[in-house]
Amino acid sequence: MKRIFASLLLLLPASFLAAAPYSHLSDINQMPPTRFLAQRLLQEDTITFCVVIPEEEKERVCVENVSLLVQSALREWTYGIALHIYQAGRAEEMQDILQILEKPLTLQPLPQCNLSNFPDFAHYYPQANAHSQTADITFILSAPYCTHLSGRYNSFFDIGNQQTPPFICLADYEESPVQKEDPAPQIYKQFGFSFSEEERFLLTHTASTFAQIARGNYNLQQQRNLWTTNRLFEYDGHSLFSIITHELGHAFGLADEYVKSRPEEYASRKPGQGLMRDGYQPISCDEVDGMITLLDRFAGKQRTFASFCSENTYIVNGTEKKLLAKELAKQISQQIPAQE
Ligand SMILES: [Zn+2]
Repeated sequence: MKRIFASLLLLLPASFLAAAPYSHLSDINQMPPTRFLAQRLLQEDTITFCVVIPEEEKERVCVENVSLLVQSALREWTYGIALHIYQAGRAEEMQDILQILEKPLTLQPLPQCNLSNFPDFAHYYPQANAHSQTADITFILSAPYCTHLSGRYNSFFDIGNQQTPPFICLADYEESPVQKEDPAPQIYKQFGFSFSEEERFLLTHTASTFAQIARGNYNLQQQRNLWTTNRLFEYDGHSLFSIITHELGHAFGLADEYVKSRPEEYASRKPGQGLMRDGYQPISCDEVDGMITLLDRFAGKQRTFASFCSENTYIVNGTEKKLLAKELAKQISQQIPAQE
């Protein structure tokens, strides 16, 4: 079967090789798989996380609210991707992927994380206590510290330092959908009730919307409400939820889609259009393709499937191929079922 498939692909002119709407981090080739959340999701029923907010920063955000955003974002990368698959009517085809995305997953915040090996952390926060816990993913909210590490004011994911666990450094968290006390975005206060009735309704239910998503088991309407609500906090830059969700995409193993250079493997020439490219976008079909290929890659599984972004584009073991006609695509997919 495999040989027939390979010959068919060879017949296709090079111009039909299309752009993948996703890409994987090149670090996957260099790092132990367990440093990536995609691997943790395959192997474990719990993802642990740690939210670190130094005392000096606690006036701006609080651990409980950031923790809620992190849990919501993790649900969107798992349960939320499953909803996209159901919505596309492809549950049967993606049964094995759904089993992973929908399994009972505990999201466990660790109250005390080991920060002793984080570069210069003790210099910035000498009062920080040394603890022994290490989370699968650590979030540090500190504009001065993140700016120091990256050399500019931004938020980023870091997996390259072997001394530290993978972590997400958050510098820009001015606008958070779940505020410390006030649930409304700044613009709400500045301009009053200039929102539509639906938007006002969503804004007054922001906290409960995020709480619902954080628990998992939500429906499509609740998922839409989440992203519509979040967008209301993005009038002047990305919301904290968008930033956390984007950076978590890296933690699973996905790469940025806005950079010009494309990885040679597990990506193609043109970028996707979803959250990994543009922080104003929700998780999209690009990220669905990305997550399926990541899970297959970490599981060592081969699969041919039609892209969730374009039914004429097939993804073959992580590489995207555009096929001449639907019929040809159908023929190939019938010959090569996804392998167990
Ligand atoms: Zn990024």
